Amino acid sequence: MNRDAAGQSEGLFIVVSAPSGTGKTSILKALMQNCPNIMFSVSYTTRPPRPGEVDGRDYHFISEQEFRERIAAGEFAEWVENYGQLYGTSGKTMRAFLEQGFDLMLDVEARGAQALKTNYPGGIFVFVLPPSLAELRKRLGGRGCESEEAMKRRLDKAVDEIREIGWYDYVIFNDRLEDAVDRLRSIYVAEKSRRERLTERIEGFLA
Ligand code: ADP
Ligand code: 5GP
Repeated sequence: MNRDAAGQSEGLFIVVSAPSGTGKTSILKALMQNCPNIMFSVSYTTRPPRPGEVDGRDYHFISEQEFRERIAAGEFAEWVENYGQLYGTSGKTMRAFLEQGFDLMLDVEARGAQALKTNYPGGIFVFVLPPSLAELRKRLGGRGCESEEAMKRRLDKAVDEIREIGWYDYVIFNDRLEDAVDRLRSIYVAEKSRRERLTERIEGFLA
């Protein structure tokens, strides 16, 4: 997807995965406040909004029927069923942003991330870990609005997800939020500074 070798100005995309409750949403929000050229890929989901979540900003909240129609129409770059709900990334939106030169952050769990790695070469894959499972449990509780049972399901799934860490490019421990945001920003800046991405500018300079 990225035309790195030719040094074109297509945007880059960073896929961020983390067990639910780790703080990935908090990190991404803080990062994007300071980086206007980074867009957030707003996923589609059938899960109901949590308090404070806004349709079209946090997710596109749609019915299961609409989601299934979009699957049938081939609209998703990847989609998964997660905790009994459907989540997916619009391939069209993703391509449009990247082609316009915007950089894109995607909040996608490990199976979706794997599908993107296979089908959309050039992505950067970052896994965020909580300081410990005990802290993860606390953060899930702090977020509120979920039953004990839903929380237990998320914790069990967290352990499974962490096993996927082996094929990610970068790992960030979310101990202090500010440090985690700094690390993600550093990864972004380093990736933007890769020589292959700057070919055009270097050639212009040399000319
Ligand atoms: P995720 O998107 O990974 O599910 P959230 O960003 O919703 O997680 O964070 C889950 C909870 O943990 C929220 O209440 C958030 O304020 C809190 N949180 C996030 N990062 C930290 C951190 N570094 N230290 C303490 N609490 C945090
Ligand atoms: P939550 O319900 O807590 O917002 O998200 C649950 C999980 O779904 C998180 O691990 C999050 O990364 C993942 N997720 C959110 N959007 C997408 C998506 O478009 N595709 C995939 N595969 N996972 C997603």
